Amino acid sequence: MKRAVVLLSGGIDSTTTLAIAIAEGYEVYALSFDYGQRHEIETEAARRVANSLGAKEHRVANIDLHIFGGSALTDDIEVPKQRSETEIAHGIPITYVPARNTIFLAYALAWAEVVGASDIFIGVNAIDYSGYPDCRPEFIEAFENLANLGTKAGVEGRRFQIHTPLIKFSKAEIIRKAVELGVDLSLTHSCYDPTPEGLACGECDSCVLRLKGFREAGIKDPVRYVKKCNACSEFSSCPTVNSASSSSWCWF
Ligand SMILES: [Zn+2]
Repeated sequence: MKRAVVLLSGGIDSTTTLAIAIAEGYEVYALSFDYGQRHEIETEAARRVANSLGAKEHRVANIDLHIFGGSALTDDIEVPKQRSETEIAHGIPITYVPARNTIFLAYALAWAEVVGASDIFIGVNAIDYSGYPDCRPEFIEAFENLANLGTKAGVEGRRFQIHTPLIKFSKAEIIRKAVELGVDLSLTHSCYDPTPEGLACGECDSCVLRLKGFREAGIKDPVRYVKKCNACSEFSSCPTVNSASSSSWCWF
């Protein structure tokens, strides 16, 4: 059986990527990171997802990006809230973690070499995260070249391939794909700033993009948010579901 290493954060994109790799017939080795982000809820979500989808193995690598900081996810910098979809779409936000995907892919490559996998999957997306330089096709292509030049397996003739099945998908398309593949999206976690109990804030960039995706896909987000709809104060049965915009504070 062909093997693949899949980077798994426990969010919707990486979870869907894992489901795609499994559907394509790979035996998957899921890799997550505890990188000094503000909470461990993300790695718990990754664990649930890997179990539920049937990864052959799931490992969590501890890497301390907190020693450098430089991001709202690894430093004492506040996570931006209530930004509009237009604001999110432009520029590189403070939640960008310096060189994160380069570091993650380097770990994935090392594990791939060990388990004899030629394929690495990463759920990067150049549509919703257009500001992130390490989510672009040029970066992925350059890393693939690096993988083939800088490893024993590569120079001995194994061709590494970096798969980015979601690179041209909108968030709504990713959500539809996940549902089509039978993924339980209630296991996923996207929020940059959840409550200690794990409720999503509904206001950070990641929550805003997630909610926009569900809204556009016409599907209810199964995860729990800390805020209720201002209009109706209902948590789970808001009647304005289909007309909600990110500024109305109605997220189902
Ligand atoms: Zn959030």
